[in-house]
Amino acid sequence: MASSQWSDLDPSKVTITPATTLKPLPKPEDLDNAWGKVFTDHMLLCEHDPVAGWGAPRIVPYGPLSLDPASACFQYAPTAFEGTKAFLSPSGTPRLFRPDMNMARLARSCARVALPPFDGAALLELIKIMVSLERRWIPAGKGYSLYVRPTMMGTRVGLGVAASETALLYIILCPTGKYFPKDRTTTSLLASNDTIRSWPGGTGGHKLALNYSPCFAPQRIAASKGYEQNLWLLGDDQHVTEAGQMNFFAVFKKPDGVLEVTTNPLDGTILPGVTRDSVLKLVEAESKSLLPGTVLRAVERTITIKELVESSELVEMFGAGTAAVIAPISRVGYDGKDVLREEGVVSRALWKRITEIQMGEVEHPWSVQCETTVPGLSIS
Ligand SMILES: *Cc1c(COP(=O)(O)O)cnc(C)c1O
Repeated sequence: MASSQWSDLDPSKVTITPATTLKPLPKPEDLDNAWGKVFTDHMLLCEHDPVAGWGAPRIVPYGPLSLDPASACFQYAPTAFEGTKAFLSPSGTPRLFRPDMNMARLARSCARVALPPFDGAALLELIKIMVSLERRWIPAGKGYSLYVRPTMMGTRVGLGVAASETALLYIILCPTGKYFPKDRTTTSLLASNDTIRSWPGGTGGHKLALNYSPCFAPQRIAASKGYEQNLWLLGDDQHVTEAGQMNFFAVFKKPDGVLEVTTNPLDGTILPGVTRDSVLKLVEAESKSLLPGTVLRAVERTITIKELVESSELVEMFGAGTAAVIAPISRVGYDGKDVLREEGVVSRALWKRITEIQMGEVEHPWSVQCETTVPGLSIS
């Protein structure tokens, strides 16, 4: 990549092969509880070569990839991805939520597994092009959005255990509905200390494919015991790191009445969530207005499982992540007992505030207009 011929990602080079037939749109209600199963008509592909750099991005009909079975991504998992959402604002324009944070995080994830660098602003432009192109797929209404999944994977052919400088970047999109089934609004977690999601110096702070499959078997164990997800613990003090694939928050009511909205500091074992950051920033900026009559305080410190079990100040718990935005946690199992809390007022106020910003119902610098005009590109 030191070579002078190396080219960065360039949205102006994008080519398009439109799908000859377009898929029927799913009904919004069919999207509820079917997260990540329906995909739009097109995908964007772009290959990286160590000498030439990034090639021309190609938009093609959505479909299978053809890759050599000895590609690094199938064996050693140099695969990084992102997840962000496009929303349809009341005026009908698509909006993204703080997408610059996703671009920066993808660059860090790629760097951690020695995948090639890319211009984050250029990738964001490609995402805007895809969202504009697939605009008819963005379901209207609160709770609905078009999920955007940019992925980069190492495609070096060969079984040698080494960095992959050849890579494939692709963007796929899926319309998404409500995260929770109709009869349920909260989630339950089993605190496990026999399997560990992330550790100091590891990869837990990055969105890398290799972090997720080791969670499948523990998740099954949790499910067999009646819990939806795992509450991940770490260290001799058994502190909480994350809640399934979400950042974990606990709210403590202090003797002076202040509600401390508390989460782990970003010590490398925690995925730096966009939603996590948004919660902390909103609590700080709107400490007196988010919940009228109550003072909120954002706190970053470690929370131990012992504290969750014993604290009389614990008033609510929730997970934070793009998919659910805010997922109230009603039950945490540990050592044969359950810590139970109702869905709380802080969860509800944060969900309301974040989703109104995402939907563009109020003006806020975090909500980014997604309009791009690609010449000769229009499907709808
Ligand atoms: C993606 C993810 C989150 C949430 O991050 P957001 O940017 O808020 O979506 C939290 N934890 C893990 C492990 C994740 O993969």
